[in-house]
Amino acid sequence: MFRQGAAMTSSTDARVLFVLAAIVGVGVFLIDALTPLDIAIAVLYVVGVLLIASPGSRQAAIATASTCVLLTLVAFLMSHDDNYSGGSIARCVVSLLAIGTTSFLALRNQANTARLQEQIQLLNLTHDAIVAYDMSDRITFWNQGAEALYGWRAEQAIGQRIHELTQTSSSIPLDELRDAVVREGRWEGELQRVRSDGSTVIVASRFALWRDDKGKPRAVLATNNDVTVRKRMEAELQRQQDELRATIDAIPGMVWSSSLDGEVSYINRRWNELGISLTDGADGSGDVWTSIVHPDDWPAMHAAWRGAIATGKPFDNESRIRHSNGSYRWMHIGAEPLRCPDGQILRWYGVNTDIEERKQAEQALERSEAFLSDAQRLSRTGSIASRLPAGEMWWSDEVYRIFEYAPDYTPGIELILARTHPDDLALVRDAYEAGLAGAPYVDVEHRLQMPDGRIKHVHYVAHLAVPQSASIEYVGALMDVTERQLAQEALDRSTAELAHVTRVTMLGELAASIAHEVTQPLAAIVTAGDAATRWLNRAKPDLGEVGQSINQMVRDAKRASDVIRQIRAMAQKRDPSQAVLDLNGIVRESIELVRRELDAARVELEVSYAEPPPFVCGDRVQLQQVVINLVMNGAQAMAGVTGRARRMRIGTRLVDGEHGQVAIEDSGTGISAENVGRLFNAFFTTRADGMGMGLSICRSIVEAHGGRIWAESEEGRGATMQFVLPIDKGTCNEQ
Ligand code: ADP
Repeated sequence: MFRQGAAMTSSTDARVLFVLAAIVGVGVFLIDALTPLDIAIAVLYVVGVLLIASPGSRQAAIATASTCVLLTLVAFLMSHDDNYSGGSIARCVVSLLAIGTTSFLALRNQANTARLQEQIQLLNLTHDAIVAYDMSDRITFWNQGAEALYGWRAEQAIGQRIHELTQTSSSIPLDELRDAVVREGRWEGELQRVRSDGSTVIVASRFALWRDDKGKPRAVLATNNDVTVRKRMEAELQRQQDELRATIDAIPGMVWSSSLDGEVSYINRRWNELGISLTDGADGSGDVWTSIVHPDDWPAMHAAWRGAIATGKPFDNESRIRHSNGSYRWMHIGAEPLRCPDGQILRWYGVNTDIEERKQAEQALERSEAFLSDAQRLSRTGSIASRLPAGEMWWSDEVYRIFEYAPDYTPGIELILARTHPDDLALVRDAYEAGLAGAPYVDVEHRLQMPDGRIKHVHYVAHLAVPQSASIEYVGALMDVTERQLAQEALDRSTAELAHVTRVTMLGELAASIAHEVTQPLAAIVTAGDAATRWLNRAKPDLGEVGQSINQMVRDAKRASDVIRQIRAMAQKRDPSQAVLDLNGIVRESIELVRRELDAARVELEVSYAEPPPFVCGDRVQLQQVVINLVMNGAQAMAGVTGRARRMRIGTRLVDGEHGQVAIEDSGTGISAENVGRLFNAFFTTRADGMGMGLSICRSIVEAHGGRIWAESEEGRGATMQFVLPIDKGTCNEQ
């Protein structure tokens, strides 16, 4: 068993021992040398030797032993003169033997003690706290490390019960701990203890059991290391790790890390929430990607990932990732390598971010762009955005198609002008100038001339966008109206043809009326000629009467020639001409042309003319045709009417100071409510021999003159057909 040397005996103690030894030595010498006692008193020198040897000085012990031997011999010589008896010699020898033996033992003990002291010093050298205690937990050894660790000095600690002194607490009960030490002979673990200053310390302890020769447990040697700081650091590290993990788990993305060769070794909680675990590798290889990446995206993703691993370049990929419910969502998969200072890759860290919404939006955008592009292509309408005065432009694909430029051309007014028909250049430039001046709307229709000479018709409309900057921005549409234009021209042509056909058809119907009109003036001329001849053949010719007859003839001839001229005009196929026309005159002439028809149909005609006459700008024959058409329709509507007068009222009037109106009111069958709406549609007719083109042509003509035509009717009580034309304001282009 170890017992720590009663520390170093202090120098004071040593001095006291020396004095005591000297007293003992002197006393023994005096008694031995001067008294006649026949006892081996010199044996008592051993007390002095032991006293001197006890503080530990080897030299002093040897010197003391030698002195004692010398004193014994001196005293022997002094006390016996020459009278040496056998007994006295024997006593002297015994004393010398005793001194020698004691000195030898003392020196050996001293050597042992010194060795022990050395060992203790060595034990004190260690920073570990070394404590030994017996089986009743009483401390028997307490090194300096223990003093430093727990705060009690050795003399305070020795003899105390270790677990009581340090209030040991352990993860297992102390009794179990003792049993374990006795059973196993050793134990190691962490204990929490309380220092002398009341602070808590965590120690890593190693216990070793010492048994005596008979195998009986005698003591426990414990080495203890203060791991409080380490523990605190470990706890802090753990806390930081937990915090980091919680942070990583809180990231809405799928965070992961992989080994150098790309095998995923860590995934955050988000993965688990999506029902993915690291064991999901489809082929058991542990490669989680194979089972979660959409089969269509896997080859590209795999190749990109392998490429990143091979080159060490950041990984960037977009793939669909399968979720627990089986659905796939688009994710951005990005990873960066973690390198050690020498640049070698240690691991890969990645995060998958859900971009489903963005993808959907992108796809929707792509779709709508495709729709828009389709719609633009189908409608031949392109979009143009322009920023002025810089002249920057943006063209949609259709604009490029319309202008027939390759899509890599930078749009600009120069490109537009280069395609503009030379005759329309001024028009386009004016529109551009208007834009530069900030006009709220730009609306221009012009022609394009393609390099191969083809002509296109385009219509460009744009409006000033809400300004976002100081510059002027226009957003507009460019429509390729070539087909519409051609169709319109074709329609105009066919309308003219139809009008002609209608007129010619009508001519047949009116032939009798015209014949009558022409016959009547001719007959009148003949009659007047006869009369003039008679007045001349008198014995005394009456030249006044002759003159009157000739005037009558001239008037009638003029009327006949007018009728013929009109018939010719109607029969002629010609383009409309523009002239300032008296609306009253148009109505009057038209009535003259159909008067015979009206008479035959026994129509009572009532005509009223506006005063002053409204003047309009237009084509005489076309407008006559409108009136004739409406009058004839009225007459036809009244043809079947019995029991009431067939009355027709034709009137002109000025309305709102801007328009001249012609209204033809009949008392015919009237028009049903359902037919009123489609009366003016081409080929709408209720008559068995009707063509249904009359009103349609009327509308085309009236609208071409900037007017409007409509019908009002009460079924069964007749109808009023009317049209208005703008009054000429002196702008009519006479041709
Ligand atoms: P069509 O005379 O060859 O039928 P229109 O275009 O001139 O062709 O007339 C279309 C139709 O409008 C006629 O069939 C008739 O039913 C109706 N309509 C036109 N004018 C009148 C009217 N004054 N009263 C009643 N119906 C009319």
